[in-house]
Amino acid sequence: MEHLFLDNTSIEIHREIQTGNIRHVVLDFDGTISLIRDGWQNVMVPMMVECLQQETDTTETQAQLEALVVEFVDRLTGKQTIYQMIQLSEEIEKRGGTPKAPLAYKDEYNRRLLPVVEARIAGLAAGTLTAEPLRVPMSLEFLKSLREMGIHCYLASGTDVEFVKNEASLLGVAEYLDGGIFGALREYKKFSKAMIIQKIITDFELSGDELLIIGDGYVEIENAKAVGAIAVGVASVEANRYNMNADKRERLIRAGADIIIPDFREGAKLLDYLFD
Ligand SMILES: [Mg+2]
Repeated sequence: MEHLFLDNTSIEIHREIQTGNIRHVVLDFDGTISLIRDGWQNVMVPMMVECLQQETDTTETQAQLEALVVEFVDRLTGKQTIYQMIQLSEEIEKRGGTPKAPLAYKDEYNRRLLPVVEARIAGLAAGTLTAEPLRVPMSLEFLKSLREMGIHCYLASGTDVEFVKNEASLLGVAEYLDGGIFGALREYKKFSKAMIIQKIITDFELSGDELLIIGDGYVEIENAKAVGAIAVGVASVEANRYNMNADKRERLIRAGADIIIPDFREGAKLLDYLFD
């Protein structure tokens, strides 16, 4: 169907849904609530290009390697970070190199990203930075409203769970996530967003329209549609120099998002719609 805007808002309705039954909400973290890791691509891409140059005898140019990396990093965003590192290892192997374990690349990436994230976290902890500009606009207020309505909220992120827990608490959102905070584990096969979603459905014997998934990645939107849940895509703006995710909105629509929002500034109207 041709999409409609909810009256006088920028909330796009792409599919008619059964409203009024939602009891549980699963939210993605980075790009959906948090901007603490915004710009992470500026760290991951150069690191991978460097690995391909140093660990293989490739004759590809810097620009060619960068295009290759940008494509798969972008495509795998939303899954756990390890999957991007697994792809890097495969690309190194394809070019005759002997890759390290994917986890070693992930540790190196986290080590390089740390100063960027740490500066923001230290600023938050010391009170020199306020949390508000590091949250997707009005995401905290949206969560508060959900909890006031008695809706159970969960976080499911592809970032390592210990980072997510710390950052959620610094951003002031942790206390509203009564259902739990879930994230990537070193034993990566023991976590996926799909697994968390399935567990909630099973534990509470939910039908699809009782569960809402909100995220800025196509992964969680696809996960939502696979179980018949309602999916809200957040087409938030990201700062990276590779123009990655420029077609985020279109991608979320392709993945099956029922509703698209730019952020939570019109959260009250979205809630009115979702809960009738
Ligand atoms: Mg995200």
